Amino acid sequence: MRHFKTICPYCGTGCGVIVTREENGQLKIQGDKEHPANFGRLCSKGSALAETLSLEGRLLSPEINGQTTSWETVLDLVAQKIQQSIDQFGKESVAFYVSGQLLTEDYYVANKLMKGFIGTANIDTNSRLCMASSVAGHKRAFGTDTVAGCYEDIEQTDLVILVGSNLAWCHPVLFQRLNAAKQTNPNLKVIVIDPRKTATCDIADLHLPIQSGTDTWLFNGLLNFLRTNDYLDFEFIEKHTTGFSEALKIAKETLPSIPQVAQICGLQENHIVELYRRFAQTKKVVTIYSQGVNQSSIGTDKVNSIINCHLATGKIGKIGATPFSVTGQPNAMGGREVGGLANQLAVHLEFTEQHTDLVQRFWKSPTIAKQAGLKAVNLFQAVEAGKIKVLWIMATNPLVSLPDSNFIKKALEKCECVIVSDCVKNTDTTAYANVLLPALAWGEKEGTVTNSERCISKQQIFLEPAGEAKSDWWIISEIAKRLGFGKFFNYQTTADVFREYAALSGFENQGTRDFNISELSSILNEEYAQFKPIQWSISKGIGKKRFFEDGKFFTPDQKARFIPITPQYPKQFIDLKENFILNTGRIRDQWHTMTRTGKTARLLKHLFEPFVMIRPCDAQRAEIPDNSLVKIKNQRGEIIVRAKYSNDQMRGTLFVPMHWNQQLSSHGTVNSLIAQITDDISGQPESKFTPVQIEPYKSIWQGFILIKNDWKIPKECDWWVRIRQDFGWQFEIAGETQIEDWDAQLLKWFGKKDWLIYQDKKNGHYRYAFLENARLIMTLFINDLGNTLPPRNAIKSLFNKENLTIPERMTLLTGQPSSEMPDVGETVCTCFNVGRKTLQQAIKQHHLTTVEQIGEHLKAGTNCGSCLPEIRALISS
Ligand code: SF4
Repeated sequence: MRHFKTICPYCGTGCGVIVTREENGQLKIQGDKEHPANFGRLCSKGSALAETLSLEGRLLSPEINGQTTSWETVLDLVAQKIQQSIDQFGKESVAFYVSGQLLTEDYYVANKLMKGFIGTANIDTNSRLCMASSVAGHKRAFGTDTVAGCYEDIEQTDLVILVGSNLAWCHPVLFQRLNAAKQTNPNLKVIVIDPRKTATCDIADLHLPIQSGTDTWLFNGLLNFLRTNDYLDFEFIEKHTTGFSEALKIAKETLPSIPQVAQICGLQENHIVELYRRFAQTKKVVTIYSQGVNQSSIGTDKVNSIINCHLATGKIGKIGATPFSVTGQPNAMGGREVGGLANQLAVHLEFTEQHTDLVQRFWKSPTIAKQAGLKAVNLFQAVEAGKIKVLWIMATNPLVSLPDSNFIKKALEKCECVIVSDCVKNTDTTAYANVLLPALAWGEKEGTVTNSERCISKQQIFLEPAGEAKSDWWIISEIAKRLGFGKFFNYQTTADVFREYAALSGFENQGTRDFNISELSSILNEEYAQFKPIQWSISKGIGKKRFFEDGKFFTPDQKARFIPITPQYPKQFIDLKENFILNTGRIRDQWHTMTRTGKTARLLKHLFEPFVMIRPCDAQRAEIPDNSLVKIKNQRGEIIVRAKYSNDQMRGTLFVPMHWNQQLSSHGTVNSLIAQITDDISGQPESKFTPVQIEPYKSIWQGFILIKNDWKIPKECDWWVRIRQDFGWQFEIAGETQIEDWDAQLLKWFGKKDWLIYQDKKNGHYRYAFLENARLIMTLFINDLGNTLPPRNAIKSLFNKENLTIPERMTLLTGQPSSEMPDVGETVCTCFNVGRKTLQQAIKQHHLTTVEQIGEHLKAGTNCGSCLPEIRALISS
């Protein structure tokens, strides 16, 4: 057996992982007990990493226009295309769109080539969609993009306020740490501010279901409250900040009273008072915020309205007291550090004359971008306008993740040369690429990442490269060489890149900049190979836990800035009576556009198809039954998803997950509805406030297929979802054209005749099962009169059985479980495959009242713990 210490490639929590290669070659995943982010814990996604590592679907060789080619040919072509474009249309005609999935070394080299050698800042990252508003807010307040606190603060505080953060699903291990801290410290209170009652509310002492987009009123109200009730830290304000009077004046003028805050934010006055009182009277407060704050057309103001309150009370730079932005991606922070964003230079430097000169001298580059480049949304608008002729996309899937998918599609279609570096062959984006470059995946590449608390850790190699895949920094350097910059990109190892990057962070720094890891610039290859997690900045070998402990900030006068916030509604604010407000986000078991988590059946058991959460009263008003298909639309496009009733959803609002791509669902890409509306300061798109309409989807027939082998979806299926299963595949399908003869249709679709058949034309039921040697190969259930289809679970459990019994064969056509085979319900615990009905029965039968008792009976919730909020909800209900 061999053990490898590495880092989970998913969320910004940045958990340490130990991969064990067992004697039989199998890989086992465990949490790293020594890693300071997780101390051995992993969530459901991290626990299932080993199941996503197959070569299925991987891009294994370079391709030009769909034809496999050699690295030499493809690199020559890419360099030639870039050079031709620069020569003919200027350097601004070339752009890179990169990703928080890249490792820091890859990110650094891409940024160096574009800004320092091609000489334009047209490089932006998908982190723009994730936390650009926090970056902008930090810079406005602190002078630098500095995350002040650390994870320990969450455990050492007495009050955690979560704003726009479903920590339980999006940063599950941080949530587990918070939950554990709450259990050991009864004084620790948790307040959640979120329009939805999410799984995070499971441990909340108070939930404020705020009207979407009104956070700035709430926090301006808090600033007023702190002043009126004498809770300000005047000494801190005086010594360490400027701009307080102006910020307070605007807060007072725009909203003097709590009843007004209550009215605008849609909250109860007593809840607001409770929040304000707790914030004011608790010395140690951590305010955690993420996408609900950042992904907004007023995101930067939201961030600063929160920071203002921390500055006003001196709750910053102290143990257990800090504003805390948690990042979405594994290396969103690394991207911020290396200048992956179009509006910053490497190592937290800016586009000032002094900084561009400093970077250019360090790189010894012939040129350097002098001003910020195009931010993600504007960059793709320039592609669509024909201004960008060569676009190189690295490790991201913008056709699914950027707003207005149909527009992005048009832009890629129009672009003369689209180059995509990826480890996955067929994504929505690679379909539009002229050139595909196979990149190494997790486990095949090495390099560093930075998590939400500024902790730098290293992803390690434990797998052979897949096919001809190469590391991103190697690919970029090879292009740089072909563009004539060989001696500046002559890296032999990843460690070479890291050393240069670390040295730049210390170049002419002299303590004036927050980011400094220059002590690592002389790291030996062997030390780099064994890299130990460390928080930046680094001084005398020790990482910095907290910034601003001395009250000194990175502004010219070392004082933090209060930012006056005039509250505004999101740019698409409309009359809620006419429309619904669509909010998008993540779900517990999926990651981004599902190119990896979609490969494991286990992670599709919890929520397996795109859905919309809707309040039952809203659904009934729109004549939408629970679990029926609905169309959600606006002027940009439409999606078709399954309605799920939920009282956790606020009236007039909808929630749709962001993950589904067009490889897995015909109409599940929610970003096709999202507008290209961004925050004026940060350029981050608004993903939480989109006016839409909803109506029932009226297909002629609906059905499902459970089948051992993958199936090419035929044109008769106007709507479909493709779901991986342990035994094969599940397809949910619907059609808008009447099918007169299902027997003939099945012959056409599958070329098979000898089915077990049940038909009840009066009620529209058509059911088929196909067996070979008494083993189930496939089943198909259709209804063309709008009648409900049976649950799928009972049938699924029959695929791995030999010699099906008579009751089991009955199940094939009824869908109802036989008495020998209890219906377990939808999966809640994916680690131990425990269903909702099993849990409900155990709770009733054994009078179980705690999650610990459930764990003892069923093991559910005892591994990654991601399902604990749902188990608690079942116990309470
Ligand atoms: Fe990975 Fe889960 Fe940890 Fe995030 S919380 S880094 S997804 S194991």
